[in-house]
Amino acid sequence: MGLKLEHVQKVFKTKTEETVAVKDFSLNVEKGELVTLLGPSGCGKTTTLRMIAGFEVPTSGRIILEGQDVTNMPPNKRDISMMFQSYALFPHMTVRQNIEFGLRIKRTPRDEINQKVKPLIKLVGLEGMENRRPDQISGGQQQRIALVRSLVMEPSVLLFDEPLSNLDAKLRETMRLEIRRIQKKLNITSVYVTHDQVEAMSISDRIVVMNLGQIMQIGSPKEIYSHPQNKFVADFIGKVNFIYGTIEEVLEDGYVVYSEELQQKFVGISSGKFKKGDEVIITLRPEAITYDERDKKENSLEGKTRQYVYLGTHVEYGIELKNGKILNTLLYNPSENKGPLPNEDVKLYFSKQSCWIIPKD
Ligand code: ATP
Repeated sequence: MGLKLEHVQKVFKTKTEETVAVKDFSLNVEKGELVTLLGPSGCGKTTTLRMIAGFEVPTSGRIILEGQDVTNMPPNKRDISMMFQSYALFPHMTVRQNIEFGLRIKRTPRDEINQKVKPLIKLVGLEGMENRRPDQISGGQQQRIALVRSLVMEPSVLLFDEPLSNLDAKLRETMRLEIRRIQKKLNITSVYVTHDQVEAMSISDRIVVMNLGQIMQIGSPKEIYSHPQNKFVADFIGKVNFIYGTIEEVLEDGYVVYSEELQQKFVGISSGKFKKGDEVIITLRPEAITYDERDKKENSLEGKTRQYVYLGTHVEYGIELKNGKILNTLLYNPSENKGPLPNEDVKLYFSKQSCWIIPKD
């Protein structure tokens, strides 16, 4: 059954102003699915999560949990747990006492507590540390306890509010995989908030990209990256080049776009419906562009190498085009693949499939 948000809206009112933090937000999170809310600071992610948890009441719209309308239900009555970025562990309690706390409040029998806690401690690899206090274990281990403490309550939905932002980069990567592994194994319905796109891409079944309180796109990481529906999403996720133009011809399986500034045609694809004369943008990812003319590609461009940044795994190039704009390209494995040198004239090739056309907004 999972979680459903129907036209949820949140307006914060002060004496002098009104902020629409979340606008007409509708989403279905399926049972066992992990959906991430992703967007820049202030886009309404936390407010949405807080409404699901019950810490904020929507101004309008409905929240349905496992078929039940919980829109106006207080947080402690909802079958939901939340994991925060500060682990919020009790410092004077042991690991085991911290984990058991919620169950004891619910007066769960001792036998049942043991039955529930033991396999979870094993699952996160914290066996043998049950009697330590939070200050006697590492940040990553504290994070694992916070996770177990949420899981042990067996909530219908688990909410994550930027849970990894206090950890260093390496640990964040490990914990990300760990959370995903456990979430999948226990098949627990989850909503995850982050502003880190790599984290969102690596952990989610689906991502909701938000901006200014509104949903910009909902899709799998692959859909969001390779088929963005608008300029905001294309720009927010990864690096991208934009080529502005107008539709010159509607093909059976794509479009011919004419770029006035480059005085050149390109062929591309889209899920949108356009007609001749429509103004559009071609989105083109740097890694889709090659220098190798033996690769059979439908599109090509000429330019001069202006920027060259060697990063070991790849080189990032900035190629100056006829119109003076810079096109970003990548060359992987630079020790074996020979790319152009700075100030060299180059010809670039890219496929029709990699020219994803979106409306000009
Ligand atoms: P961040 O990544 O910075 O945490 P966010 O995407 O989680 O941002 P929210 O915290 O949901 O964004 O805030 C959305 C908007 O609502 C912002 O403009 C914020 O200033 C406003 N806002 C949030 N809480 C309140 C409040 N209690 N009163 C008034 N305005 C609020």
